[in-house]
Amino acid sequence: MRNHKNVYLDYAASTPVDEDVFNAMEPYFTQVYGNPSGIHQHAQSSENALHASRRTFAVLLNCLPEEILFTSGGTESDNLALRGAAMSEKHHRNADHILTTKVEHQAVLKTALDLQENYGFEVEFIPVDGKGRVDPEEVRNLLRDSTAVVSVIHGNNEIGTINPIQEIGMICRERGVPFHTDAVQSGVHLPVQPEELNVDLLSLGGHKFYGPKGIGVLFKSKKVKIDPVMTGGSHEFGLRPGTENIPLIVGMTRAYEHIRKNQESYHLHNIQLRDQIIETVLGKIDGSVLTGHPKYRLPNHASFAFTELDSNNLLMLLDTEGYSCASGSSCKTGHPEPSSVLLALGLSANDALGGLRVTVGKHTTREDVEGFLSVLPTAVEKARNLSSLK
Ligand SMILES: *Cc1c(COP(=O)(O)O)cnc(C)c1O
Repeated sequence: MRNHKNVYLDYAASTPVDEDVFNAMEPYFTQVYGNPSGIHQHAQSSENALHASRRTFAVLLNCLPEEILFTSGGTESDNLALRGAAMSEKHHRNADHILTTKVEHQAVLKTALDLQENYGFEVEFIPVDGKGRVDPEEVRNLLRDSTAVVSVIHGNNEIGTINPIQEIGMICRERGVPFHTDAVQSGVHLPVQPEELNVDLLSLGGHKFYGPKGIGVLFKSKKVKIDPVMTGGSHEFGLRPGTENIPLIVGMTRAYEHIRKNQESYHLHNIQLRDQIIETVLGKIDGSVLTGHPKYRLPNHASFAFTELDSNNLLMLLDTEGYSCASGSSCKTGHPEPSSVLLALGLSANDALGGLRVTVGKHTTREDVEGFLSVLPTAVEKARNLSSLK
């Protein structure tokens, strides 16, 4: 019998938009379409929605409305934070040193490397331990007078590890160095309040918390300066030009309100499913290890490395069984590349090829997880047979 199951276990990659979030957006496409920069009634209606959204985020993040910048997503928020702070610190005090880690999302990593290659900065990597975590004391040791910006990921998208952002932030604050954290992955699970976390810049992305794609937030503390990355109008306090995307902003705000309101039950739901996955995989499948931290870990995130297999094969086999999962490798076909994040944890190149990421969410059921766990051991065995044939 052909299997028609189609179970989504990739909530770290994206999440579905809630029905009522979708409905909340609709009028802003078809009825309230004025450009908020205008001075007429149509503009006013759009501007009201913009202000209301900004205020809602300010309340939920416990900051000022003028510290909330709307962007086109997590990637742009990361770019604006890093490029913006680095360029501003360079102009004001000739700072040219950037501290970040090798376990960042590409939106941070590639931005830092671009600043190094093309804008005269030196990028230095703060070491991470075998679980992908930064020791705040390492940051203290590596900070220089010339450090322009420090960026450390909050919740890791690939291995789920949660970093001690509050402690790192304290150290950066003592030295007066702007501190950015990519909270795109953690934002759906934790309150991520910048003041509490001691961060100056914090990125969020709508589609990771049941909002729409192509919209995000950058929190920017009034205490730090950033240069804009794009040129244009004076939108978003002169830091992010372009007509504001009101429908997506409204939808993202609604989604974020939901997630904060239901935080506890969401946490409990996720953590039970996650722990069932972790326990079963480690107990049942030889040659499997948990990647990332066992304790400081995103509540919906189970990630593993399996010996002697290519995760692309495993993902395809799982897909055939009706389960959508992910690996660390961004390579879809062709030459398998070991995950750079798994390499940074100290895994061998071979083991870093065998990553599997299983992330649950709002609509995942116990039956979904049990079904997945019943097919995984065979899929792993088949994937191992495939790679030994090569
Ligand atoms: C998804 C993600 C991003 C990119 O966000 P987009 O909104 O897809 O551009 C950045 N960082 C992390 C940790 C992510 O998980």
